[in-house]
Parts: sequence; structure tokens; C-alpha cells
Amino acid sequence: MLKIHCLPAFTDNYIWLIETPNKQAWVVDPGCGQTVEKYLEDKPLTLVGILITHHHHDHTGGIAHLQQCYQNNLKVYGPSKDNIVGLTHPLTLEDHQSLQFNHDATLPDLPLITVISVPGHTKGHIVYVIDNHLFCGDTLFSGGCGRMFEGTPEQFNTSLQLLAELPDTTKVYCAHEYTLANLKFATTALPHNKDIEEYQHTCTELRHNNRATIPSTIGIEKRINPFLLCHLESTQNALSSHFNEIISDEVQSFTLMRQWKDSF
Ligand SMILES: [Zn+2]
Repeated sequence: MLKIHCLPAFTDNYIWLIETPNKQAWVVDPGCGQTVEKYLEDKPLTLVGILITHHHHDHTGGIAHLQQCYQNNLKVYGPSKDNIVGLTHPLTLEDHQSLQFNHDATLPDLPLITVISVPGHTKGHIVYVIDNHLFCGDTLFSGGCGRMFEGTPEQFNTSLQLLAELPDTTKVYCAHEYTLANLKFATTALPHNKDIEEYQHTCTELRHNNRATIPSTIGIEKRINPFLLCHLESTQNALSSHFNEIISDEVQSFTLMRQWKDSF
């Protein structure tokens, strides 16, 4: 059984630490090396590797420091398309392709790992699915999605659809605590969605008690995340009246939702 630990970093980043049964550790998107180093200081855990989702500095900034701490012995996986300095195991995927590795248990204690290419936030963004844990960086957030810096709406929408196809019980470990801001937008854009309103109360309570709203699950996101509801007629009607525009398909719906959120 893997254990997942949450390491807050900077103002609202989460670095996820995966603890394996024989006390090895992997970190996902260590933007800050010192945060990971400090966390591991008095723990009986040995860091063996890093999983990177995309090239942004708040996800990759700690690679060099951690390699230094561990005599350059760390395995560093990440997308080859994003040109990240320090990868030891670049992963090459076509857009929206998925691949699996660790069939042969070269990474002892880790199960089969599925990697999915999800362009949109960056062109090379990938996510990792390990058991029922999804590490999705800045592609899917709870109640939202990342900004579209390098991809097209078609690409980003398809990427999100791929994640929505994962089992409902899949836990969603995104890299930022943006949930309340996302839900504020969601309740404005889709005011008649009772699930969103209810979830906003749950998350407000969690934050009030200084607790993370992450992980959520794919099942929750499919009910409350406006960017996963773009196919619905009710969503398209809401967008249509906000933009005074006729919505003809889901991609247009996604494009307008992203545009609305960007200026919210
Ligand atoms: Zn990013």
C-alpha cells in the first residue's frame, strides 16, 4: 500500500510525497528542494526518485538541490517535450497518448505506472496514475483547470476528457490549493448546480480548519468542475447568455469557460 503525504510549498503549491511499503520515497513536482529535504530529515524514508508533470519552475525548481542532497542518485522522470533540465528518464509521448512503465518492477515497491499526455497548460504536460492516485500537476484542479499557456482549446478539452474517463474513485492530487477560488467562479458561472454549492460549503469548512481540500476524486470533479461539465446543455446555456453567443459544440463551450475564468 502506498501512502501519500502532502508537503505545502510557497504560497499555495502542494508537493506530493509517495511513501512505499519498504520506506522509499518519491516526490511529485518538487518546486522547492528544501521543503522536501526538511520533511525527510527525521523520517526513516529514503528519497529515490522524482516525477515531474511539466516544466514550470514551481514544479521543477527543487530537482538540482535534491540531486545534490542524494549524490545524483535520484531517478527523475518527466516529459521530454517540455525541455526540463535534470531529467534522467525523459518520457516521450505523442499528444494524448498513454504509456505504462514498471511492468518489470525496475522501481521496486512501486506498482505499474500509467503516464498520460495531457497538452494544454504546457505542450508536454503529463500526468501519472499510480494505483488509484492521479498526480495531475496543473492540468486538472479541484473545481477548475490550469491556464492554457501553450495548447489549444481542442487539446486541453481532450486532455480533461481523458482524465474524466478514469474511475470515479481515482484520487486527484493536483499541485495547487486553488479550490475555493475555483468554486467561487463555478458558483457564479453555474449558479443552479446544487452539487457545486454543497461542495463549496464542504471546502470552506476544510480551509477554515486549515486543512487541504486535496485530494478530491474524479467522481467529485465530474459533478462540480465547470471544465468537466462543458458538454452539458445547462452549461452551454449559461455560457450562451453570459457571452451572448450561440454555442455549437463542447470545444467552444470549453473555450468560453476558460475565457470567463481568466477574466473573473
Ligand atoms: Zn504550471
